[in-house]
Amino acid sequence: MSGSRVTRVSYKLSELAKSLPEVEFKSYCEKIEELKCNDPLVIDLHLYKSGSDLKKLIPPITRDHLILYLIVERRGSDFEKVEAVNNLLASEQYLTNTFSDKLLAFPLTNGTVIIRSHITHSQTLSAKPATPWAALLSDGKIFAAFCDCVAGLGCSCIHVSALLQQAIAHTKEENSTSSNNVQIVNPKPIIPVTSLPCKWNRPGKGPVSYKF
Ligand SMILES: [Zn+2]
Repeated sequence: MSGSRVTRVSYKLSELAKSLPEVEFKSYCEKIEELKCNDPLVIDLHLYKSGSDLKKLIPPITRDHLILYLIVERRGSDFEKVEAVNNLLASEQYLTNTFSDKLLAFPLTNGTVIIRSHITHSQTLSAKPATPWAALLSDGKIFAAFCDCVAGLGCSCIHVSALLQQAIAHTKEENSTSSNNVQIVNPKPIIPVTSLPCKWNRPGKGPVSYKF
């Protein structure tokens, strides 16, 4: 049955895609056709870029792009939109509380960049990590996003939000390193206070005597 569905797409699909219900499968295939590439879940992980390469690759995605994609432009019930807002608000904190693999990016020739990452489920650490992916246009707009978790069919689960937050964090890192000439008025200490040398008992002032 699934074999006949695969023939609709000229690109390779993941097992996740093949197992989707009819409506979601159709929408998934449309996105793959528009992207003109294999399903990001079957692209060899070694072909993805990571680390310092990302600074050049990640499009200038902002929080506004997340709001537009996950809420404003979203076709769905009001309840689903509210859930998307909650996921968006929680995703930043979620990232700091969970384990997420490093961000991976796969640039397409037309300027679009596929991003993906492995992010643990919020309910249990023992569950298989979610593997969300998203396609970012060269101007930072989100073209598509999917996740293989139960809530991922709506394409706006917390894993998708967390993945997009990871991408934003990488563009922020680039912005902060490229603006070295900006004067920082009140910089935060990078070293924790507890790791700094003691200021009230510095050696070298006056003679030091020892009693034996
Ligand atoms: Zn998910």
